Amino acid sequence: RDTDIAEMLDEVADRFSVQMRKKGIRAIVLVDRRVGKAVLDRDQIDQVLDNLMSNAIKYTLEGGRIELSARLEESGALAVSVKDSGIGIPKRDLARIFDRFYRVDKARSREMGGTGLGLSIAREMIKAHGGTITLESELDVGTTVTFILPQPQQKGEQAT
Ligand code: ATP
Ligand code: MG
Repeated sequence: RDTDIAEMLDEVADRFSVQMRKKGIRAIVLVDRRVGKAVLDRDQIDQVLDNLMSNAIKYTLEGGRIELSARLEESGALAVSVKDSGIGIPKRDLARIFDRFYRVDKARSREMGGTGLGLSIAREMIKAHGGTITLESELDVGTTVTFILPQPQQKGEQAT
C-alpha cells in the first residue's frame, strides 16, 4: 500500500522512453526528499500518470522537455506535477478541458488522435482519492498538470 514516489515516477518515465526518444523529448524526475512513500491506489495513479504523460508527449514538439515532480504540501498531502514545454492551451478552452470528449481546436486535435477522455478519467480517479487536479497552461510555452492526494495522518503527528 505504501508506494515509493520516486520509483513510481521513474517507472512512468521508463514506460514512455521509446516514445520520447522518437520525438527527441527528454524527461526529468524531481522528487523532494521529504516525499518518501505515500498511500495511494497504484493502478489508478499509474493510469492518471500515463494519461498525463501521453498528453505531455503528444502536445510537445520535437526536442521538448517534460518534468515529473513530487513534493509535500504543508498539510502533508502529496502533490505530483507533470510539466511540459509544449504547445499549450488557449485561455478560452481552459474551463472545459476536464470535460468528457472535450478537445481543443478540432483541427490540431484530429491530427493527433484521441477521444478527449484522458483528462476526464484522470479527474475521476483523483476525485475517488479525495484529491484535486488542476491544469495551468500558457499557449506556446507549456502546460503543467498537478494533482494533490491527501495522506493519512502519520503516527505521532498531532491533528490540528
Ligand atoms: P485521449 O486522452 O482520450 O486520447 P485527448 O488527449 O485529446 O484524447 P484529453 O487527454 O482529455 O484528450 O485532453 C483534452 C484536450 O486537452 C486535448 O485534446 C488537448 O487539446 C488538450 N491538452 C491536454 N493535455 C495537454 C497538454 N499537455 N498540452 C497541450 N494541450 C493539452
Ligand atoms: Mg489525452
